[in-house]
Amino acid sequence: MSPGRGWAIEPSRMSIRTLELDDTLYAYLQRVSLREPSLLRRLREETTALADEQARMQISAEQGQLMALLVRLLGARRTLEIGVFTGYSTLAVGLALPPDGRIIACDISKEWTDVARRYWEEAGVAHKIDLRLGAALRTLDSLLAADPAETFDFAFIDADKKSYDAYYERALMLLRPGGLIALDNMLWSGKVADPTVQDEDTRALRALNEKLHVDRRVDLSLIPIGDGLTLVRKRHEDPRQRGA
Ligand code: SAM
Ligand code: CA
Repeated sequence: MSPGRGWAIEPSRMSIRTLELDDTLYAYLQRVSLREPSLLRRLREETTALADEQARMQISAEQGQLMALLVRLLGARRTLEIGVFTGYSTLAVGLALPPDGRIIACDISKEWTDVARRYWEEAGVAHKIDLRLGAALRTLDSLLAADPAETFDFAFIDADKKSYDAYYERALMLLRPGGLIALDNMLWSGKVADPTVQDEDTRALRALNEKLHVDRRVDLSLIPIGDGLTLVRKRHEDPRQRGA
């Protein structure tokens, strides 16, 4: 096939880059793969009705499904969430956790997390979720002070962008080797790749992308789902357990 006839990259380069999803292909992807529980769908719809502009903060349904899959793959029991909003990602993870699974969920907004709590109750997962209202950095520091052991299996970072690096460093300390951190919005609507954009949030995410690329403590992949989801797996100290 010649360039421009369906391939997003020149075939001579022997690989295909990520497809751009037009509306038709996106609808197809959702039709053949999405299994959004009705409660999650209702939460998404209520969030849009409550606050159309802020509703864009919510992760997409397919991202929630991917995170639920990852949590199951990890056999996760202890998880962290930084940035709850109306609770979509927390609920997606909460539903995927076993009955004794736990999420320490951090946010500063009582108003938004009151919506979240209603849905967690209705879903029967409220007992798994320990909501900590207050600045997430303080919550993470208090977790580290109380128990510096590496006991968390999974962490999702999706709060204020300027603090992402600080959240990452703390989450990495709290994570067990082999555990996973997912960082949302790492493509930041493309602004990270545009050097003319120099606001604080963009610079913070850009710097963190550069840092993660060479961070030998972790394995990584930046997945172009939603606004870009970076997955980092904490390596084992012992290089024989590290894998490639
Ligand atoms: N993960 C959520 C979802 O899927 O619906 C979206 C989270 S939203 C993008 C970001 C959230 O971070 C907001 O609810 C905001 O209140 C919270 N936030 C902002 N700054 C924070 C801070 N310093 N500490 C804790 N939470 C913070
Ligand atoms: Ca986000």
